[in-house]
Amino acid sequence: MTEPTTDPATSAPADGAATEPPVPSFADLGIAAPLLAALRDAGYEKPTPIQREAIPLALAGRDLIGLAQTGTGKTASFTLPMVQRLLGGPRRTRVLVLTPTRELCLQVEESVRKYSKHAPVGVIPVYGGVGYEPQERALRNGVDVVVATPGRLLDHLEKRNVDFSYLETLVLDEADRMLDMGFAPQINRIVEQIPRWRQTLLFSATMPPEVEALARKYLRKPVVVQVGRRSSAATTVTHAVYPVPRHRKGDLLVHLLREHPSETVLVFTRTKSGADRVVHDLQRAGIEAGAMHADKSQKERVQALEDFKSGAMRVLVATDIAQRGLDISGITHVINFDVPQQAEDYVHRIGRTGRAAATGDAYTFMSGEEIGMVRTIERVIGQEIPRVSVPGFDFGTVAD
Ligand code: AMP
Repeated sequence: MTEPTTDPATSAPADGAATEPPVPSFADLGIAAPLLAALRDAGYEKPTPIQREAIPLALAGRDLIGLAQTGTGKTASFTLPMVQRLLGGPRRTRVLVLTPTRELCLQVEESVRKYSKHAPVGVIPVYGGVGYEPQERALRNGVDVVVATPGRLLDHLEKRNVDFSYLETLVLDEADRMLDMGFAPQINRIVEQIPRWRQTLLFSATMPPEVEALARKYLRKPVVVQVGRRSSAATTVTHAVYPVPRHRKGDLLVHLLREHPSETVLVFTRTKSGADRVVHDLQRAGIEAGAMHADKSQKERVQALEDFKSGAMRVLVATDIAQRGLDISGITHVINFDVPQQAEDYVHRIGRTGRAAATGDAYTFMSGEEIGMVRTIERVIGQEIPRVSVPGFDFGTVAD
């Protein structure tokens, strides 16, 4: 369910579906006047998808996991709120961005300069392989934003050239690459010196277990926002939970299917009538769908499954009972429209995806009443399932 949205220029929904909400402007997202001016100068007209999702949350001070690759506009999605939160505050080092490479370090620095063109915010890049003294002088003078690679920054920290006791925001950019490059020990030692009551934003193109562990250790109640293509190297099922009010689940399903028009999806509902209702709603929205439940004959069920597997039908809506005894392996997308009552059912459903294919996605729609059931499932499967926030649907952020 994660089509690439790699070109910021084409971030608006291409099909222009009448029911899609209009793309918000940067001002709608809460960006302040001096930054809006800088964005106008840069020629950015509309926020990209990652910016639309991340900016309001980051401005509100939430911890965030951004699953996005370079090219999605991810840098601005953290630098804009970060610069805005610095406006008017005391002049101390309040933001640290850790990046894996010197190139990225310079890119982030340039981005901060670009957006703070009409706002007084100081930034310095700190990386290895160049003279030490100029960095030392600049750090000792105190500067709002430090953008650094972990190795060189740790040198400065150990020599007490920099004081992080007032740090408010930590950004871990391209966390997967930093870990691949063996920076985990340095990152740990740096983060130990940063106040716990900070905002932490983590960006990563992929979410291997090491990155998940890092996020669990350093982020507090993070919201996960995801755009772009995930790593094709992923060999496991990707789980995600979408918080959504119960009465909006149908709309969310239509929204996701419209965003990803090429995918086929097996949807599970708890009841037969629930399955029929979903099929009805999808058909009304112009999406081919069929139901598979106990009121259908075995012949009808097999036919529905064949239509689904051949691609003639995009969405198959099933109850648990109906799918037993049928071969639905190789299906890559499963959506739990209702959270399964039994954790075992979750495992069973999800076991159906990602078996023949190299990857599989398992998404679960969770209403407020179902939070407890999701927690039980997480205990049984022994892992936390990332929450994915879709603007306009997430009861958490809508209510915030
Ligand atoms: P990034 O993914 O952060 O590396 O950004 C990719 C490129 O998109 C950079 O050259 C940015 O300057 C550009 N960019 C970021 N946000 C926008 C936007 N909202 N509109 C147009 N271009 C953008």
